Amino acid sequence: MSSKGRLSTREKLGKLHTGLTFDDVLLVPRYSRVRSRHDVNISTKLTPKITLNIPIISANMDTVTESEMAVALAREGGIGIIHRFMGLEAQVAQVQRVKRMESIIIESPYALGSNAKISDVRKMMREKNVGGILIIDDEGKLEGIVTTRDLRFVEYSNSSVTAVMTKRKDLVVGTWGKTTIDKAKKIMQDEKIEKLPLVDSRDKLKGLVTAKDILKRKEFPNATKDSKGRLRVGAAIGVRGDFLERAKKLVDSDVDVLVLDIAHGDSAYALEAIKRIKKALPEVELIAGNIATSEGAAHLIKSGADSIKVGVGSGSICITRIVTGSGVPQLTAISDCSLIAKDSGVTLIADGGIRNSGDITKSLVAGADSVMIGSLLAGTDESPGEIVFRGTQRYKVTRGMASMAARRDQLQREGRLVSESEVQNHEDGDLSDFVPEGVEAIVPYKGGAVFVIRQLAGGLRSGLSYCGASNLKELKSNGRFIKITDVGLIESKPHDVVTDL
Ligand code: 5GP
Repeated sequence: MSSKGRLSTREKLGKLHTGLTFDDVLLVPRYSRVRSRHDVNISTKLTPKITLNIPIISANMDTVTESEMAVALAREGGIGIIHRFMGLEAQVAQVQRVKRMESIIIESPYALGSNAKISDVRKMMREKNVGGILIIDDEGKLEGIVTTRDLRFVEYSNSSVTAVMTKRKDLVVGTWGKTTIDKAKKIMQDEKIEKLPLVDSRDKLKGLVTAKDILKRKEFPNATKDSKGRLRVGAAIGVRGDFLERAKKLVDSDVDVLVLDIAHGDSAYALEAIKRIKKALPEVELIAGNIATSEGAAHLIKSGADSIKVGVGSGSICITRIVTGSGVPQLTAISDCSLIAKDSGVTLIADGGIRNSGDITKSLVAGADSVMIGSLLAGTDESPGEIVFRGTQRYKVTRGMASMAARRDQLQREGRLVSESEVQNHEDGDLSDFVPEGVEAIVPYKGGAVFVIRQLAGGLRSGLSYCGASNLKELKSNGRFIKITDVGLIESKPHDVVTDL
């Protein structure tokens, strides 16, 4: 120790402790009363106020989560976080798409005035991805409805919508505030109709019930829903620029949870942003991160976060640890942060590095309440982006949000990209001044996300059974880690056989 009480470099190195990650450990099998993995309950808290039926969140990356992924995951019992690398209006529209997808009673359904043309109706159906548009007069009174069936063989598009719509006098409607779901079901069955508009006492259009939404509720009994029966969805915001306005607009569009997304969450910028959001929007459920230490966890919680997101440099597309030399192996990071989270009543999300269902089980035993997944979901039909070929094999692109490619696209979209010849003095849009902390990569195409999600949830259920646990609370108290060697890891994987058939 120096005379000023500082540690010398040698002393610092002497005090090092070991950080562990998923492949460094296994869970020790324990006596189990579980008869089938279907008997275990893997529901959890995303935040203290939001329950998930499976502890899986899709990452706010532009190759992972837009509305399609968010819908698929919420139907399975998890939740998706819409990324923020798009304009504010576009992000709000993504949230609204999810919220409308399965709401049993749709408030303010899509409508056009009776002066609209058939082409306007077609455009709205296409843009909003719906099969019926209601027609209203200047005062908002119901005039009719047009569905895809009415347009099936219509070739002219310049004519007025009134030529093809079913008119008010022939429409069966329900009463806003009085027609319950059960009543609506009976009316639709008796009248053999698919859509039931809801009007008030002055015939003003107030809502819509569709048979499709009611049937979907049966198809997805595990879905993550809000109190109005709509799928839940989250959205990411940053800590600079329009973040507060974005937060307010997203909350106005009924987003269920916000994720304050910054690579180094234990920073003055992030803590200030948490306080400002919580002051402006005290009711909002706020997840904040990323951090990797107990001090970081304490700072986020003190600033007002409802949930903390743990993982610095753990992501599959991440090079933070290489570029900056900073990070904590993920299992140790989760474990260190979980002690603080547990005492404060906030939840913990393990973000990054999940490669299989075993990693999820290990994260939960280490103290996480749920996991965030990026690249594992990036190769699916529901992730944004096209399929690419390498030889005959199909792949999809995934990329870090701090990668050069993502940065270039972002600057281009905002019209701020400065070309190399224009660069003068480290301008804002100058890519030569940008230090990437992520890479662009491809992942094998996997088909529908539902298959991947069900494999992960199924593997986790089996994981609980091996730990003698029938729910996540028991998993946390029963789970025991054993540290393994490199040789143990070789034994854990298929070995001495040819698997590349
Ligand atoms: P994955 O599931 O692909 O292993 O990790 C996904 C997580 O990686 C994301 O949720 C996010 O926290 C993190 N991430 C996404 N893009 C980047 C990036 O460019 N750099 C770093 N360091 N992390 C990233």
